[in-house]
Amino acid sequence: MPELPEVETIRRQLAPHLEGRTIRSVEILDARWTRPEDPARVQAELRGALVERVTRAGKYLIWRLCGEGELAPRYLLIHLRMTGGLLLDPAIDPPHTRARLQLDGTQRIVYVDPRRFGTAHLLYGDGGLHAYLATRLGVEPLTPQFTTAHLRRLARGRRAPVKVFVLDQRQVAGVGNIYADEALFRAGIHPLRAAGMLTGAQLARLRDGIEAALAAGIEAKGATIDDFRHVDGARGSFQDRFLVHRRAGQPCPSCGRPVRKIVVGGRGTYVCERCQPRPRVRRLP
Ligand SMILES: [Zn+2]
Repeated sequence: MPELPEVETIRRQLAPHLEGRTIRSVEILDARWTRPEDPARVQAELRGALVERVTRAGKYLIWRLCGEGELAPRYLLIHLRMTGGLLLDPAIDPPHTRARLQLDGTQRIVYVDPRRFGTAHLLYGDGGLHAYLATRLGVEPLTPQFTTAHLRRLARGRRAPVKVFVLDQRQVAGVGNIYADEALFRAGIHPLRAAGMLTGAQLARLRDGIEAALAAGIEAKGATIDDFRHVDGARGSFQDRFLVHRRAGQPCPSCGRPVRKIVVGGRGTYVCERCQPRPRVRRLP
């Protein structure tokens, strides 16, 4: 499932081809992509729009659009969910093609999604965008707002395991199962430790661990475990650099003890229980 580094990789690859270009036509082949909006209406709204900028918030890819004579921008928000992908100029439409966008000139973008959980939404004006994101996304890592103090405020009083806390998009935006495991290992924090019980030093290490794991993922152009592909169809390489994720039974890169797989919040979770000591059972004060 694409997480922040995978979506950021797509953004960096698409932006030079999209920004400043006009969308000539759109074909939405699967109405589920824009649900509950009528795909015909979304097609009409996108046709002729100029793509001003391509940004990202959490796992959302955000196209800022402007039509001729329009004062307020519109935004196309794309969420890839489980298996969504955006391809630039594929030679043929791959299986599971759900939408086609033709840009001015010869380039085109194809949206593919085998499991069809991905979404596309139109939002109107900066106010519309901010209101939509405010209820869905918490602090954005890799920004100056992502501080230990901010993390402490979010975690205060939370009994949930820290891994569940980190996976909650309304707390920390963009982190999914891969980068949560990698960040907690880097921080030396057991995933079952209650978020609200973390010490100041642990919260500082967690902040740094999240930042370092995400930066490493972006550097490796994302992780390809199943479906994630670059816009040219290539694979990311972060899966070859995992410290603990999906490495059950293999030696911990720090101490050599075998990495264990446990389940936290219903998610397969990888941990070195020497480097990330299991919490003793305690109650919040
Ligand atoms: Zn270890």
